[in-house]
Amino acid sequence: MAHTCHEKRVLHRGEICVVDRLTTLAFDADDTLWHNETFFQLTQERFVELLSPHNDAEDLQARLLETEKRNIGRYGFGVKGFTLSMIETALEVTNGQVPGAVIQEILANGRDLLAHPVELLPGVKETLTEVSEQHRLTLVTKGDLLHQEEKLAASGLGDLFSDVHIVSQKEPATYRRIFETPDRVMMVGNSMKSDILPVLEVGGWATFVPFHIEWELERADTPNNHPRFRQISTIRELPDLLRGSA
Ligand SMILES: [Mg+2]
Repeated sequence: MAHTCHEKRVLHRGEICVVDRLTTLAFDADDTLWHNETFFQLTQERFVELLSPHNDAEDLQARLLETEKRNIGRYGFGVKGFTLSMIETALEVTNGQVPGAVIQEILANGRDLLAHPVELLPGVKETLTEVSEQHRLTLVTKGDLLHQEEKLAASGLGDLFSDVHIVSQKEPATYRRIFETPDRVMMVGNSMKSDILPVLEVGGWATFVPFHIEWELERADTPNNHPRFRQISTIRELPDLLRGSA
């Protein structure tokens, strides 16, 4: 696919595509650099199995999602809030009669999720190493502070990032605070709602790398012909995109 430069600036040596002026690449972590949603979904399947004597699978999934939505403002994003929401849903669907052994198992499954080894997505290490030669790399992720710190340490990618931001929300105000010069930053991530739209809103560039599973609470429409929006199918395409040849 031929790359079109939608936004150009005139410098003393001539016209350049603004992508060439990017100094910083900011990366989302979960499902952009390493697997995350896959493990949440496996834990959710185990939850549904555990509660299957009390309710059917579809209803359990819908009620759990409702509980998560209701709690996200209080618990924030991450495994601990998810575990509490599973317990709350289990109590709700059994009218408070859920056996203690089931609660024990939900807690154990939550702990397993926290302890799960980090699995990098294909091409991540090579790509980040390559793009770090020309750009400063920043990590912007939300979730439980301790868990995100542990995952970054286990990923072996820590040394590639000049700075790391573990935030509770990814809103325009968050990015305004983190990016001093948004027009020189490109955010790369798998969530349209958290990684792309708010970054475009504050004047940054944003490249969407969809992951095959999307958490319902992260869905949003793709921007239409936005000059600073890009989409690639795998992170391996990022160096070409930055060279303007993708
Ligand atoms: Mg993500």
